[in-house]
Amino acid sequence: MKKTKTSLKGRICKVRHCKHILSIYNHEAYCHVHLGQIDKFDKHKSYKA
Ligand SMILES: [Zn+2]
Repeated sequence: MKKTKTSLKGRICKVRHCKHILSIYNHEAYCHVHLGQIDKFDKHKSYKA
């Protein structure tokens, strides 16, 4: 039987106060909204959740 690699169910975005539930297919620690933001802000090392 083949297993699809998925992450744990019901994980929540790591950004404080963000209540987005992550998809089991999203292996990141952040929701799609914050993933984009962190990527952008990380370049300036000024991201504050
Ligand atoms: Zn988020």
